[in-house]
Amino acid sequence: MQQENNKKKICILGSTGSIGVQALQVIEAHDDLFEPYVLTANSQADLLISQARKYRPAAVVIADERHYEHVREALADEPVQVYAGAESLCQVVKMDAVDIVLTALVGFAGLRPTISAIEAGKTIALANKETLVVAGELVTDLCVRHRVAVLPVDSEHSAIFQCLMGETSPVEKLILTASGGPFLHHTMEQLQTVTPAMALKHPNWEMGAKITIDSASMMNKGFEVIEARWLFDVSPEQIQVVVHPQSIVHSAVQFADGAVKAQLGQPDMRVPIQLAFSYPHRLQSDFPRLDFWQMGSLTFEQPDMDRFRCLQLAFEAIRRGGNAACVLNAANEVVNLAFRKGECGFLRMADVIEATMQRVAFVQQPTLEDYLHTDAESRRVAAELLA
Ligand code: NDP
Ligand code: MG
Repeated sequence: MQQENNKKKICILGSTGSIGVQALQVIEAHDDLFEPYVLTANSQADLLISQARKYRPAAVVIADERHYEHVREALADEPVQVYAGAESLCQVVKMDAVDIVLTALVGFAGLRPTISAIEAGKTIALANKETLVVAGELVTDLCVRHRVAVLPVDSEHSAIFQCLMGETSPVEKLILTASGGPFLHHTMEQLQTVTPAMALKHPNWEMGAKITIDSASMMNKGFEVIEARWLFDVSPEQIQVVVHPQSIVHSAVQFADGAVKAQLGQPDMRVPIQLAFSYPHRLQSDFPRLDFWQMGSLTFEQPDMDRFRCLQLAFEAIRRGGNAACVLNAANEVVNLAFRKGECGFLRMADVIEATMQRVAFVQQPTLEDYLHTDAESRRVAAELLA
């Protein structure tokens, strides 16, 4: 039995991933304040088992049910409940003791557990941007209805959130910075032949494979435009993407008087993760500091939406509204995986996404059922276009 205490109890959806592992480091450094209450993985059973032995959560979920027996047997001598399957993710987020749900799982799989956590009134530390890309309107409406706070973990959105701390005046413009990824200055000809291995070498950030490919195609920045639109209730026209290859300025906000506030720091996801857990306070950390004497120059430029068409498609999807961004996300998940497997060229990813957006039926006011259907249909269409 867990002892009752005042620590914030955190459910980490995706504890075996890049964000999940860094979140555990943050919790470990502040184990007087935070407790890892639930840990979940998809298929990395052995890592989940070793995390459970080390951090002693009340429950774990292995989403891929084929690994259930293995996890259950390995943890038989531990006081931990072991569950399996996607539906269990929707259940554990609702556990009474859970205070914060960190959505650090990847892709559309984040949508239903996040909705379930919101309905249970849990504070959301949101890393899984796909949830807001797919169903931003539905999810933000639910948050209002259940009075749930969404604290952004994505570094750009955390930066904007930090710029807005203490402000009551309306925003004129959000300035969303983008590293531009490893192919920032590649020609179209060069982009035609880039390989997954080249795309997986991000210049500034160590992240999971899917988001690293999205960063190379700049679909990640497109997703972040949509994420910002919903998190901060601004129109897409109020969001300006600015390429900033050094990833030091994490994003900025311009106000009605022309003043611009930016948040700067070393590229380190533990900063926004920790703030999402500790908000409204800041905690001491030993993360690397910025040294303005050593930093060199910071540069800024306009993104090229002809070479990085995924960014253009994301703007198009959010302007169209309805289920358009859900189609965008599903088609992207299909081509992203196909690219990683060497089954789709780099530039072809945008072609397939665009064609999928043209083919799948538009729904103006989608329900959750509509989103589930749109996702499945878009995956089918994208796979067909790829074949
Ligand atoms: P990873 O691929 O490193 O980790 C993903 C995690 O989700 C793993 O724990 C994985 O389990 C689990 N998972 C994958 N698929 C499923 C599924 N179908 N059902 C349940 N669990 C699943 O991703 P990241 O940590 O890089 O990214 C996580 C989220 O955070 C993404 O939405 C990403 O866009 C966002 N994000 C990430 C940043 C980063 O720096 N990494 C920065 C900003 C946002 P297993 O290990 O068993 O496969
Ligand atoms: Mg980001």
